[in-house]
Amino acid sequence: MERVRLYDKTFKTFIPHERIMEAIDRTAAKINEDFRGCTDNPVLLCVLNGSIMFTAELMQRLEFNCELVSTKLTSYQGTGSTGKVKQAMGLTADIAGKRVIIVEDIVDTGNTIVELKKILAGHEAAESKVCTLLFKPDSYTKDIPLDYVAMEIPNDFIVGFGLDYNELGRNLKDIYVLDEEA
Ligand code: 5GP
Ligand code: MG
Repeated sequence: MERVRLYDKTFKTFIPHERIMEAIDRTAAKINEDFRGCTDNPVLLCVLNGSIMFTAELMQRLEFNCELVSTKLTSYQGTGSTGKVKQAMGLTADIAGKRVIIVEDIVDTGNTIVELKKILAGHEAAESKVCTLLFKPDSYTKDIPLDYVAMEIPNDFIVGFGLDYNELGRNLKDIYVLDEEA
């Protein structure tokens, strides 16, 4: 098992890159099934920064014409949610009347999803679906359905493949979990 050190914490390998790729393959196949033959150019909404790697991998596998829009939301500080979601950057393009697939790195408490759904409704999206690479079901407190979940994980703090600890670790190819023993 590989270990990485980010500031004061040690993380150990949790989900290897190949398993992430397989999960993205399966998720993309489901989205392709649902959107096959569509002519409305749905929007993928990349929620920066965490979702950048997942969005890039997912988008390469989609077999229908789609657009890419980004926004930036923040709620985490260190290894925990502050409970307050801030929109640090608005939508990079107009999504009025469009079907939107929200692409998230991870759904934890669900606060960010609630905020995103509000933002999209406010900008008059025709419909919004949620696609997330990771989901912590034991932490989720909302009733918004998650349409596409690539992998479920326990309530542990993870980094890598776009996810950070105080902005470090996003470049790691695998996903790592906090090593409590280190
Ligand atoms: P929520 O609003 O659902 O509580 O949390 C969503 C956001 O918190 C995610 O998009 C992500 O940015 C951050 N987050 C939640 N859990 C983790 C985690 O285990 N590791 C990291 N690095 N970020 C997380
Ligand atoms: Mg995120």
